[in-house]
Amino acid sequence: MTHDTPEFDVIARHFTRPAANAVLGVGDDCALVQLSRGMELAVSVDTMVSGTHFFPDVDPETLGHKSLAVNLSDMAAMGAMPYWAMLALTLPKVDHDWLGAFAKGFFDLAEEFDVSLIGGDTTRGPLTLTVTIMGEIPAGAAVRRSGAKVGNDVWVSGHLGDAALAVAHRHGKLQLDEADYREAVMRLYEPTPRVSLGQALRGVATAAIDISDGLLADLGHICKLSKVGAVVELAALPLSAIGGRHVASDAGRTAIVAGGDDYELCFTAHPNSRESIADLAKMLGVPITRIGQVKRGKGVSLVGPEGKPVKIDGRGYDHFSAP
Ligand code: ADP
Ligand code: MG
Repeated sequence: MTHDTPEFDVIARHFTRPAANAVLGVGDDCALVQLSRGMELAVSVDTMVSGTHFFPDVDPETLGHKSLAVNLSDMAAMGAMPYWAMLALTLPKVDHDWLGAFAKGFFDLAEEFDVSLIGGDTTRGPLTLTVTIMGEIPAGAAVRRSGAKVGNDVWVSGHLGDAALAVAHRHGKLQLDEADYREAVMRLYEPTPRVSLGQALRGVATAAIDISDGLLADLGHICKLSKVGAVVELAALPLSAIGGRHVASDAGRTAIVAGGDDYELCFTAHPNSRESIADLAKMLGVPITRIGQVKRGKGVSLVGPEGKPVKIDGRGYDHFSAP
């Protein structure tokens, strides 16, 4: 009988599963994958640090879900098909209950999207989770941040702000009632990556991004790389019932437009595509809402009734303008 070291025990007990879509998965020096003909490899990595990206007391199962979800969301933003993931885990100590719950959250989502964990790294240190995701995309078909054109519509999937409202509540910036907090915090920890939508937007969206840093900042990235500006109408933003209850307050509005962690897709498209986008929304059962327009110039402006600029609490919206 071999006696595994704690490190290998962790890998063997929690993170070794069959990887049907890989040539070789966990266990060797490298994993091996075979790309299909005519496909490009899409790769992305995201790190989550305890205290920075999540509250240290977070339930490990939701953390497992989120560590993969944020990466799936990057695949979605480009229109890629995710297949393979790698997990670099830095742990303060080996706690098998914690690891079992984390692995459950991770693999439940991985199975839902047919993603295999094909490798990783396990080290000791302050709790940090790094996931690399790889997938395929037909050569040349990726939806980049750089393709927005003046006159395009700006769209967003799902609802905005619930995750950031939960964070604002935790930071004491506003007060959600108990039921609202419970619901909002689920959006924070278990975002729904819009993978099918992202793929369906290939050839429809001119540019896309997933909203991790906040709508204004992320749309700002599209604007900067596309060398355009954008106007977003506050009244057009899709809000949940919770968002609707807090959009009137400065702190609530700031969370909704600048708070981040929604992992919805923000994309631009030619006005000719309105009907096909409405059809897509119906087909996929995902709300998709037109929130503004791409303009000449720089940066993102948020406007209220009659096109009046809306101030965002604590940071003028210059903060979000492209430099
Ligand atoms: P090396 O010494 O070559 O870096 P490791 O000892 O770190 O290899 O890892 C052994 C095997 O286990 C490798 O295939 C690696 O990809 C995999 N692995 C290590 N940590 C994890 C993890 N947290 N999740 C999935 N696979 C892991
Ligand atoms: Mg290693």
